[in-house]
Amino acid sequence: MVRKYDIVIIGSGPAGLGAAYHLAETGRFSTALFEKSKISSGGLRNDCKQNYTFPVGFPEELWNSDEASRLLEQTARHLKPDYQTNQNIEMYVKRAEKINVRLIEIIQSHVGTDRAVGLINGLIDNLVSLGTDIFLETEVIDIDFKNNKLILNDNSSVEFKFAVLAPGRAGFSWLQDMMKKSGVSFIDNIVDIGVRIEAKAGNYPVVKDYYDPKFMFPHKVRTFCTNSGAAYVVQEKYDQYYSVNGHSFSRDRKANDLVNFAMLKTIRLTDPVVSGHQFAEILGQMAMKLSGGKPMMQRVGDFRLGKRSKVETFNDDLYYFEPTLKSATPGDLSLAIPAKILRHIWDSLKNLDAIVPGILHPSTIIYYPEIKTYANKPEFMNNFFEVKENIYMIGDGAGTSRGITAAWSSGIRAAEGILSK
Ligand SMILES: Cc1cc2nc3c(=O)[nH]c(=O)nc-3n(C[C@H](O)[C@H](O)[C@H](O)COP(=O)(O)OP(=O)(O)OC[C@H]3O[C@@H](n4cnc5c(N)ncnc54)[C@H](O)[C@@H]3O)c2cc1C
Repeated sequence: MVRKYDIVIIGSGPAGLGAAYHLAETGRFSTALFEKSKISSGGLRNDCKQNYTFPVGFPEELWNSDEASRLLEQTARHLKPDYQTNQNIEMYVKRAEKINVRLIEIIQSHVGTDRAVGLINGLIDNLVSLGTDIFLETEVIDIDFKNNKLILNDNSSVEFKFAVLAPGRAGFSWLQDMMKKSGVSFIDNIVDIGVRIEAKAGNYPVVKDYYDPKFMFPHKVRTFCTNSGAAYVVQEKYDQYYSVNGHSFSRDRKANDLVNFAMLKTIRLTDPVVSGHQFAEILGQMAMKLSGGKPMMQRVGDFRLGKRSKVETFNDDLYYFEPTLKSATPGDLSLAIPAKILRHIWDSLKNLDAIVPGILHPSTIIYYPEIKTYANKPEFMNNFFEVKENIYMIGDGAGTSRGITAAWSSGIRAAEGILSK
């Protein structure tokens, strides 16, 4: 027998959950949520820093401050943030202003990778009790848009009236396939390329006062996703390359006295190279070729001297901490990173060192590549992220968000679209 639902949601990340909760609370529909992994696999599961200040995480071409603030309030009701307090940051703000850099103060809460599982399980259990059917380890392979049917990995199908597609950044290619198949036009011309910095916490003391400081530099360079306490650099697998990323455990875990954060440069491509995704793949592959299929790392001390880092560099006296991403290959960043990107990131790091002296200590490690390809923007029919009659595309994969809270807010907006019908 073919299963039928009023609404199907693909992906149990914050975007899918935001839509599911908003719909479930009305008690009016039969809803099913499909998740290919055992547990939501995006940022909710990893580190889970929640930002509650516009525009952090919100692409500004799709959002305004009033709309984001309205939905952030609703998001907070479900995620129950325990806000961090920022203090003593005036000194950093003043130093930044002098050199044309901005330090944006944001409202944030940090769950930590270890406690995120509990948060997700609680959200899923609650959703089930509100009447949503949840299918974990169930991948939606394809969609028959003519007959409104999902095709699952066990070859069964599910009929629906409304579908909300929220497969996240890792579901980028699948979403592109679905857009091509259903005749939805899209653009994919923006990408963030950058590095991840890992340093002794004492060399970046600002994190004592402000957990995830958001510095905005000239040339569209910014700090992003700062982790400290028990902080680790990790690698994520994409089709053709690994990108680095970072996370940290909650305050319950023993600190390792390290800090890591990304320095990203936003690149908007124009004709004839218009795919950010393709550009990222070329750069990612080049980095992999140069470093034996792994991300690359270099000490600031070596970088300044213009020489590659070697395995020995990581045992030397001066270089007094071990990299947390041990599988990264010591190398020479300037061989791998295009000149303009490297110049702007290095200039920004020098500015940062003027604001927080110490971050460019010779021991600091620069990992490459850190790539964010969230711009896969479909042409939306309306404000509710509807792309085709009764089909909605939301979250990082559809370019409506770049973070947990904006993804959740996108889900509410799609649900409001369904309710408006
Ligand atoms: C390592 C890491 C750390 C991060 N840390 C933070 C952070 O601290 N703070 C922050 O704001 N943002 C963070 N982010 C970004 C954040 O994850 C995203 O902005 C957010 O999760 C996007 O939500 P989403 O619902 O669009 O996608 P996701 O959270 O990626 O969820 C999509 C879900 O869909 C599932 N899926 C995909 N395709 C299918 C399919 N065909 N069938 C069924 N299921 C499918 C995936 O398994 C996944 O669980 C981080 C991202 C990563 C990768």
